[in-house]
Amino acid sequence: MVHDDNRRVGSREQSVGENESTDSERGETRRRTFLKGSAVALGASAFPVTANRASAHGDESDERDRIDRVDTATSDEGMVASSDPRASTIGADVLEAGGNAVDAAVAVQFALNAVQPHTSGIGGGGFMLVYDAGEDELYSVDNRERAPFGATPDMFLEDGEPIPFDERITLGQAVGVPGTLKACDIALKRFGTRDIDDLIGPAIDLAGGARVDYYLGSTIEEEHEKFNDAARAVFAPGGTPLDIGDRVEQPDLAATFETIAEEGVGALYKGDVGEAVADVVQENGGSMTPADLGAYNVTIDTPEYVEYGDVTVRTQPLPSSGGLTIAHILSLLEPFDLGQYDRQSVEVSQLLVEAFKLAYADRGEYMGDKQFVDAPWQGLLDEEYLDERRATIESGEVTTETQQPGDPWSYQPGSPYAIDPLTVDDVSTIRDAPRPYIPSPRGSTTHFTVADDDGNMVSWTSTIEQLFGSGIMVPGQGFMLNNELTDFDAEPGGPNEVQPLKRPLSSTSPTIVFRDGKPLFTVGSPGGTTIITTVAEMVINLVDFGMGLAEAVAEPRLYANSEPAIYPEASVPEDVQDGLRELGYELSPFTRLGNVMTIRVDQETGEYTGAADFRNGGLTRGL
Ligand code: GLU
Repeated sequence: MVHDDNRRVGSREQSVGENESTDSERGETRRRTFLKGSAVALGASAFPVTANRASAHGDESDERDRIDRVDTATSDEGMVASSDPRASTIGADVLEAGGNAVDAAVAVQFALNAVQPHTSGIGGGGFMLVYDAGEDELYSVDNRERAPFGATPDMFLEDGEPIPFDERITLGQAVGVPGTLKACDIALKRFGTRDIDDLIGPAIDLAGGARVDYYLGSTIEEEHEKFNDAARAVFAPGGTPLDIGDRVEQPDLAATFETIAEEGVGALYKGDVGEAVADVVQENGGSMTPADLGAYNVTIDTPEYVEYGDVTVRTQPLPSSGGLTIAHILSLLEPFDLGQYDRQSVEVSQLLVEAFKLAYADRGEYMGDKQFVDAPWQGLLDEEYLDERRATIESGEVTTETQQPGDPWSYQPGSPYAIDPLTVDDVSTIRDAPRPYIPSPRGSTTHFTVADDDGNMVSWTSTIEQLFGSGIMVPGQGFMLNNELTDFDAEPGGPNEVQPLKRPLSSTSPTIVFRDGKPLFTVGSPGGTTIITTVAEMVINLVDFGMGLAEAVAEPRLYANSEPAIYPEASVPEDVQDGLRELGYELSPFTRLGNVMTIRVDQETGEYTGAADFRNGGLTRGL
């Protein structure tokens, strides 16, 4: 990546786009400042323009309206797309001042911690893909939370039975050792041109005071009952939840950010901030100690990939199941040539549903943290295995019972090997050892993405698991703690059982798709296990159906896993929903699925187009 000495970008003194606050004002600013894209404008040369294709269903103006609600921008120089306008503006400011994509992405992450404390932050973790244009290499900075040394496979059991999920989510045992701040640090050291203290300033301002927007306000309303006292004092002072339009003040968070600016990330991983984390986790029944924070590190990994049509989809490897499962879904579907049908048709929907069901059955059976269990990487994507599994799809079967896993291990060399859970004695040995588990050299959630003038790109999904995570704010420090360890299976025995130091299985799927070896688009979304199908459907919309970017984002989505029910968005045309019901599927419509942020590159001109989903909102900022 290019290094630029124009430092101190976005310093604390700079004001932040936050004060242009009301939604309509922000919209007005956006319209004045940026090219308002349309699917037609987005057609460019990478994909044919199909925005005006005839709709076989219902009102074309509804479809047009959905596409227009996707926020888009174009630019030759740089692009940011995130779920919050203030964060996108801050990221664009960093690019404008000469920072690169990683610098800007780190600034976006800190800003999101302040304005969307319910979706991500330094109390959480995630997965960050970085395309380094200079090296022409793609890396994954895996900052998934880890179980503490004291975690045990049965920690979510009571009297031999799983603790009910709604009780599990606020336990101290649910809190994983956070990785987000370490990712910021390591990514800057490896790929960036700025220090954290040059990038955290705007977030300090926002933590000092920011407008409560619809997403934050409605989430506080829904989630405030799980807050601990510290969180309540900030988001529901005096017991009254902050409302949309109120101002949220987070002085403790601002002070924590100041401390990080002064002391570096050691404040959390080796200092007082980390001690406060361990204290509150233990008060809530967890085992985390300062040593757990001291031992945490990210890994830098090689992304998973799959060839699909004329593109290569490169995405997050285990411990996110996202990459392997997307690869599996696309591989199962490829021979069916989806593009021959109407995108919103019973045919395509049935093909998607059946492929999703098969892939999720194997996901549940075989996937876990790759540092602890082996997954059948080759078997899952082996052509003969795929043929065997596709038989149900080919026969037109309508799967209404829970789909069963196959046996991919019989299609590849070797057999599964799982590391045994550590005993208490082992734990003390490991504590003294020089972090043997860290290696892999080079190796409710938000997604954001950045591209810079040099062609570097970041695709980063960041999470504290549920909205407001565990509901536990670190007293005196002002940030929410994740409840990511609820992504482990509560019942021991499978590849995703709890083990000390292990990372729970994720579905997050930051992705960058390449054509002819060059980046074509970034994509990712929040949404728990639905992330996988949302990202796969984005690839399908763009590659099989040749949609413009806004059209691909707007397109109604469908989710299914191995269980019997299937989940179309309510916007899936009624005739398609009726057709699926007639086939025998049990439909459970969702209002919306995911919140995609994506940037596409015109491979001829290098121009970027960004698109931000309307489902939970967001903003693209081009330079
Ligand atoms: N914790 C989830 C995962 O890593 C993401 C949560 C969400 O997006 O709602 O898969």
